[in-house]
Amino acid sequence: MTRLFAGTPWDRPPVCEACGRLESECACPPKAKEPVRIPPETQTAVLTLEKRPKGKVVTVVSGLDPEGNDLDELAARLKASCGTGGTLKEGRIELQGDHRPAAEKALQKIGYKTKRR
Ligand SMILES: [Zn+2]
Repeated sequence: MTRLFAGTPWDRPPVCEACGRLESECACPPKAKEPVRIPPETQTAVLTLEKRPKGKVVTVVSGLDPEGNDLDELAARLKASCGTGGTLKEGRIELQGDHRPAAEKALQKIGYKTKRR
C-alpha cells in the first residue's frame, strides 16, 4: 500500500506511543495502552447521605479507586438509574437527593459490593 504522502516530509511511519518504536517492531501488549480496571466484584462502594445547606441532601458514593474504575461512566449510569443529577468530585460520585436504595441496586447490578455508612 502506498501512503498518501510517500516521499514527502509528512511520510512518517506510524510509531507506538507507548514505546516509541515503529509499530511494525512494537511488542507492547495492546492492553498496556488502556488503564487497568479493577473487577467490580472485588470492590465495595460506600454509600453515605450528606447534608448540604438549605436542607438539601446528596447521596455520596465513595471508596472506589478512580484509576481502577471508570468513574465518569459509573456516575452517568447512577444518575440515569436514580433519575437525578450529580457530579464526580475528587473520586466521589454525588447524587442529588437521597437515592441510596436505587444507587445500591445499580451498583450491585454492575457487580460492586455495597455498604451504607
Ligand atoms: Zn509499543
